[in-house]
Amino acid sequence: MQDVFRFADEFGPGQIVHIHAPAAGLKAIVVIDNIACGAAVGGVRMAPDVTLEECVRLARAMTWKNAAAGLPHGGAKSVIFGDPRMKTEKKEKIVRAFASAIGNFADYVPGPDMGTDETCMGWIKDETGRAVGLPAAIGGIPLDEIGATGYGLAACVDVAREYIDLELKGARVAVQGFGAVGKHAARFLAQKGAVLVAASDTTGTLVDPDGLDIAALAELKQSGRALHDHDKGAKHPTDAILDVDCDIWIPAARPDVLRADNVERLRARMVPQGANIPCTPEAEQALHKRGVLAIPDFIANAGGVICASMEYRGATQRAAFEYIDERIRANTRAILEQSRKQKQLPRLAAMALAKERIEAATKLRRWHR
Ligand code: NAD
Repeated sequence: MQDVFRFADEFGPGQIVHIHAPAAGLKAIVVIDNIACGAAVGGVRMAPDVTLEECVRLARAMTWKNAAAGLPHGGAKSVIFGDPRMKTEKKEKIVRAFASAIGNFADYVPGPDMGTDETCMGWIKDETGRAVGLPAAIGGIPLDEIGATGYGLAACVDVAREYIDLELKGARVAVQGFGAVGKHAARFLAQKGAVLVAASDTTGTLVDPDGLDIAALAELKQSGRALHDHDKGAKHPTDAILDVDCDIWIPAARPDVLRADNVERLRARMVPQGANIPCTPEAEQALHKRGVLAIPDFIANAGGVICASMEYRGATQRAAFEYIDERIRANTRAILEQSRKQKQLPRLAAMALAKERIEAATKLRRWHR
């Protein structure tokens, strides 16, 4: 038998719960990693091929992200096994069954993630009284619609550029994954004078050194069409986004897209990580050696969870944006200063910042060491 504590270390996970409710067709896993800073906020992912390992890894990522952002929340994640495109009635039954199973988990506040959305969070809130990323009708701030993560990413870039002497006016941006994170990051960076020279989705890469029309591309995607349906720009395969000559290369799609075997192809000066874990450790190290500034995911893409946390505390959209701006700018500067001083990877500086906050919070808890 596998050791059930094989994932355990000094930070967690505090609880791993398997849920099986055959009558509702529900199979799920909840990992509450660490609650030193407060009730753990973490997304509910629905996919047919999720695993316990993935859930544990993502829960830990939330522990770092929430602590680094200075939020009063620990980290958690849950996964529901199933095809997210199932019929709405079936999805509602499964999500509500999930919610009722976690009803007593007072230390876990669910949020949306791949395969779940604000409607799902509305069902969970209805069953348990706890959820973030809610529909506006019940006090939610529509974070993907307003681009909370892209907004934070642009703030992060605005600080990080000082460390590589890059002017945002005219800076060339390439975005891998023109979705909720990618398109808003491009939009907010364009407001600061940057130019989107390339974008990709699952159908291909679109390149135009003179600048792509971000609003037109967003509209195209909104209508369910692909970037390649745009009538301007050169069309290349999806993977070609890696070879685009640019200043800022934003991964905003899948994990592990930059690896030891392809990282040499990148021709950028900065990689602010919009997606979660888009770089393998080897690739991040290789970028650092080449002088390419890679800002870790849990610093650069924290805008979404900061917004969710503000919603939980009843804040307005404007207050949420102000807080995202303030937190992400301060954190980006703190880790880049530290990284420069210690000549270390920005990720190591970011981990140190998160751990410091968790350790300080742990000392205030009854059962600390
Ligand atoms: P999304 O589904 O809205 O957009 C993803 C986009 O990536 C889509 O346009 C899709 O076509 C494209 N894509 C998928 N595979 C691709 C590939 N191999 N190459 C190029 N494009 C590809 O998702 P999102 O909410 O924008 O999330 C993107 C990433 O950012 C995910 O890793 C997510 O975990 C992470 N993230 C999202 C948020 C948020 O607030 N939404 C916050 C933090 C982190």
